[in-house]
Amino acid sequence: MEIFGSSGVRGVVGEEFVPADAVRVAQAAAVTLEADRVAVARDTRRTGGMFGDAVASGLASVGADVQRVGVAPTPALQAYCAREAVPGVMVTASHNPGAFNGLKLVGRDGVELTSDALDRVEAQLNGAPSLATWQETGESQRVAGVRRAYREEVLAAVDRDAIASAELTVAVDPGHGAGALTSPDLLAELGCTVQTVNAQPDGQFPGRDPEPVAETLGDLRALVRAGDADLGVAHDGDADRAMFVDETGAHIEGAAALAALAAAELDAGETFVSAVNLSQRLVDVTESAGADVELTPIGSTHLITTIRGLQAAGETVPIAGENNGGIFFPGYRIARDGAYTAARVLELVAEQPASEVVAPYEGYHNVRRNLHHRTGDERAAMIEAIGRAANEAATEDGAAVDRTDGCRLDYGDAWVLARPSGTEPLIRVYAEARSHDRADDLATWMAGRIEAAREGV
Ligand code: MG
Repeated sequence: MEIFGSSGVRGVVGEEFVPADAVRVAQAAAVTLEADRVAVARDTRRTGGMFGDAVASGLASVGADVQRVGVAPTPALQAYCAREAVPGVMVTASHNPGAFNGLKLVGRDGVELTSDALDRVEAQLNGAPSLATWQETGESQRVAGVRRAYREEVLAAVDRDAIASAELTVAVDPGHGAGALTSPDLLAELGCTVQTVNAQPDGQFPGRDPEPVAETLGDLRALVRAGDADLGVAHDGDADRAMFVDETGAHIEGAAALAALAAAELDAGETFVSAVNLSQRLVDVTESAGADVELTPIGSTHLITTIRGLQAAGETVPIAGENNGGIFFPGYRIARDGAYTAARVLELVAEQPASEVVAPYEGYHNVRRNLHHRTGDERAAMIEAIGRAANEAATEDGAAVDRTDGCRLDYGDAWVLARPSGTEPLIRVYAEARSHDRADDLATWMAGRIEAAREGV
């Protein structure tokens, strides 16, 4: 049974993901990692307590003590794991809607498990776990102060004086997620005047869906305008991602923020790691820095595995990330961290207005389509159609085809990518070009081919 997707274990609660899954994965993780204690945290989801209890039961049943962190961002759990050299289980469905939940597994170094380690946990799931005797059953203990310690680590790792002396006003929208308990405080500690929206932890997500995208961030844009803020910051449910709004109230594309950070970070000879939906902006930034690009399949697990491999080979990877606001600064920690990313953007905004920080990386248009499938047959037919469309584009239009994850077609001035989602019953289509029409045409063409195949099933 394959239960690990591109971002760990995740699904609709009560259908694809039930407490018994959490028990089994926790048991398998504790055994695989040979852990005698494991930290457990969760985001704000309504089902987080239930799954946290299931994870704790699974861990204790195979003899591991449980350190219960409570509600915290994923990067806060990761910081705790690294500090205490203890593995961790994060109960979260990240950016997915409230109906979802899932698990992320963290190693003793605070890094999410790589593909190899997840394969070992998965293999362990196939056998019956050897349960501890009653005397050896693990014990549960509450751990306090994890969120405060996390904020202190971020504060110590950024240019606090530069940010404070710029006297910035920051609007923050944690989307009712775990970041509600850390980011407003952190930004105030950085010397910013803080305004908030959707900042009460609430697993029903009444204000907006957990995914921080332009469509869900209308409240934040309005707050930036009304409050005359210098920057707007939004997180997903577990606050490992950060998306931004500039001082005019305009949405900043994830790729533009990533490009600005990469331009500030990359030197010649270094390597930038990203997924196959890499923006042309990042190709340009990397080229002008004299750095290399390494592409991976989409999903944090693949980026982490690649970053680790490059570091082991002696390469320097100062920054890595995807267009969705999930950014790694491996010199700080191999973890996506929404609050740390926000602080790094504030370092840039302390120098010049946010709109000017990202201006060199604007002017590209991204179009994205989600195509649902209801059955395995539909999914298979849709994937087949992607391959046929790619072959046709290669022969007829001279597009370069990359099959690292789905099919990416590069036309020189534009690209289109189609791939099955790792977490939802969807085929995702992405396109990017200098003009909206060009990107839209490519996405429409690819989506049309895929939908026609679905209709034919
Ligand atoms: Mg997340």
